[in-house]
Amino acid sequence: MVQIDSIGADGVGQDMYDLMKKLFPICRSITGDGVRETLKIIKEHIPLGINEVPTGKKVFDWTIPEEWNINDAYVKNSKGEKIIDFKKSNLHVLSYSVPINKKVSLKELKEHLHTLPDYPDWIPYMTSYYEENWGFCLTHKQYEKLKEDIYEVVIDSKLEEGSLTYGELLLGGESEEEILLSCYICHPSLCNDNLSGVVLLTYLAKYLKDIKLKYSYRFLFIPETIGAITWLSLNEDKVNNIKCGLIATCVGDSGQLTYKKSRKGNAVIDKVVEKVLNDSGEPYEILDFNPACGSDERQFCSPGFNLPMGSLMRTPYSNFPEYHTSADNLDYMSSVHLADTLNKYIDVIFILENNFTYLNLNPKCEPQLGKRGLFRALSGGKNLKLDEQAIFWVLNFCDGTNSLLDISIRSGISFKNIKNTADVLIEKDLLKNSNKR
Ligand SMILES: [Zn+2]
Repeated sequence: MVQIDSIGADGVGQDMYDLMKKLFPICRSITGDGVRETLKIIKEHIPLGINEVPTGKKVFDWTIPEEWNINDAYVKNSKGEKIIDFKKSNLHVLSYSVPINKKVSLKELKEHLHTLPDYPDWIPYMTSYYEENWGFCLTHKQYEKLKEDIYEVVIDSKLEEGSLTYGELLLGGESEEEILLSCYICHPSLCNDNLSGVVLLTYLAKYLKDIKLKYSYRFLFIPETIGAITWLSLNEDKVNNIKCGLIATCVGDSGQLTYKKSRKGNAVIDKVVEKVLNDSGEPYEILDFNPACGSDERQFCSPGFNLPMGSLMRTPYSNFPEYHTSADNLDYMSSVHLADTLNKYIDVIFILENNFTYLNLNPKCEPQLGKRGLFRALSGGKNLKLDEQAIFWVLNFCDGTNSLLDISIRSGISFKNIKNTADVLIEKDLLKNSNKR
């Protein structure tokens, strides 16, 4: 049996980066063939189930929209030169643009153009999922070069009955209790938000699938918002099994780690992630839950569900200027940091899997540690070694009510040290599992 603590993700960053590079050119949206192609590639790595939910289906207050697909799009000037070309960047087209093929004046064209004057070299990422519209996005530098002319605008897209596609994988563990791990697959050529989350969960599932696990792990690869609403609407019966979970987004940049807490704020996942970040010795930031911004935690943590789901990220969406622009590209990603975030997710799972509550079998005063080879022979020194401190913490607080996580938080000693100490004390018959988690 492979143990969760025996896996490490060294060297995996380059593989994660390479997968991202393969997924990057695909034009994804909340529905359509780009999503299917993406899921098919992920399926080469993990045994993903692919689900299709038909257009028109009601999901809570929403309806599955028509499916959108696009072949090509461009704007040509009167000389026949393509001045905006979807084939060069799929960000050039407003996602969900209706088909169009007509000649327009500069004035009319400008009504459908979007730029970022503050970042004149970047193309913005814009969508119009639920309102019929068409448009192009371009750099402000391109925009400023436009002259009076008659332009040919072509968007060769289709909006028609079809389905919403999502991927799902359940890795069954000893318990039916589930850890939910979710990412979204609806952004076109954008990396941190959100191919980084897609790649991270693919590699996390790849690692966990061959390991004997206590909890079951459910992975979702869904379009943001409508996908989470759809999954929750179709799976209300499964929600009671969810112990806690994480949403993976913005995990590949070189910024420090950031954890956005669940709506509950003091759920086990909130404690576990904070402990992992604290134990790492690296700088990090903890953010409170905020429904006014963010990703699918807004659905999972809506009051009718209030699932203990947080989001472990690096630089959050709102804090990097490259967000939702062509600058959130492969150059903005770091293979080292992708691997580092993956390892933090593995550390979170390590704690969840090993957070037992033990009972001290010799609770009346301290057991004599020296005769068991657990304490240095010489006494009188000023400071206990950390391992010795851990022994006293574990023995004192293993009264059947404190979990190893509780003890590690209260003592400030790393979870791994507390867990290793508990393992040694079990071997010496000083502790037993109280079968509580
Ligand atoms: Zn986004």
